[in-house]
Amino acid sequence: MSDIVISAKDVTRTFMISAGAFRGKKPLHAVNGISLEVERGDVLALVGESGCGKTTLAKMLLGLLPPSQGTIKFGGEPVSDIDRLKLAGLVQPIFQDPYSSLNPRKSIGSIITLPLRVQGDPNPETWRRRGEEMMEMVGLPARLFNNFPNQLSGGQRQRVAIARALINNPEVVICDEPTSALDVSVQSQILNLLQDLRKELNLTYIVISHNLAVVEHIATKVAVMYLGRIVEQKDVESLFAAPEHPYTRALLDSVLTPDPSMGVPDTQLGAAYPNPVNPPSGCTFHPRCAKVMDHCSAVAPKAIPRDGDFAECHLYDENEGKGRQAS
Ligand code: SF4
Repeated sequence: MSDIVISAKDVTRTFMISAGAFRGKKPLHAVNGISLEVERGDVLALVGESGCGKTTLAKMLLGLLPPSQGTIKFGGEPVSDIDRLKLAGLVQPIFQDPYSSLNPRKSIGSIITLPLRVQGDPNPETWRRRGEEMMEMVGLPARLFNNFPNQLSGGQRQRVAIARALINNPEVVICDEPTSALDVSVQSQILNLLQDLRKELNLTYIVISHNLAVVEHIATKVAVMYLGRIVEQKDVESLFAAPEHPYTRALLDSVLTPDPSMGVPDTQLGAAYPNPVNPPSGCTFHPRCAKVMDHCSAVAPKAIPRDGDFAECHLYDENEGKGRQAS
């Protein structure tokens, strides 16, 4: 039986944005009707270009931003009904930049044990012991307990951020580009650490990334986002072996290979990313799509089931796409 730890149902988040002088405001649907379920122990990667809504979705899953519409549940309970402190103990973030996410005036020990103090643990001796345990768990020597962030390398700082996120035994960790600010040489160390901790502590991860190599390394499932929608969702092996949505294909085609003779990849994404305040009609990907059909600009595609997951594309819709399959 599946154990859904976190879910979103028809979730939308709208911001009112200035449309220019004397034009008033227009709605920007940063997240536009998303539903997803994450099973315990899974690693769901949210991928897509900047502005696709993945960070807004993550903030809603963390309870930092209420949805404009729809419901987010944690363990079957609406997040809006869960006490904020309790939710912070269940879902924790790890941010992209370990340089700006750590208070430079606080010691490493103080940073790591902050969640214990916020959660009201009254015993300072517990803080020290738990802090050192967490440091050992993430591969930091305990002698750094009284050091400050500027005395640590980027990789060590991200280990501090991971220790802080895990000290209260959360069930879900939302990792926002967890390695993008790090040197390439330490990226794989941090990814391997996250993988080891997930297995050891039975954690569930939601990973936001535009780096497909990171996604392939760490994810079990992938949700590809475009203009506030999930346009394709698949398990990671299937997605990389047989992407179905034209946008997923274009993203994968745009990855540079180590072989210089392959040249610069042809991304097929000819047109620029659309302005989300004025999204294209019908399928919002149609101005950039290599497989666009006549009716794509008029009719928005629905999610079509594909081997247990889905793709939102008329190519797979027997009615709108006339049953035509992608070649
Ligand atoms: Fe391309 Fe049409 Fe599919 Fe949109 S619905 S991705 S435009 S083929």
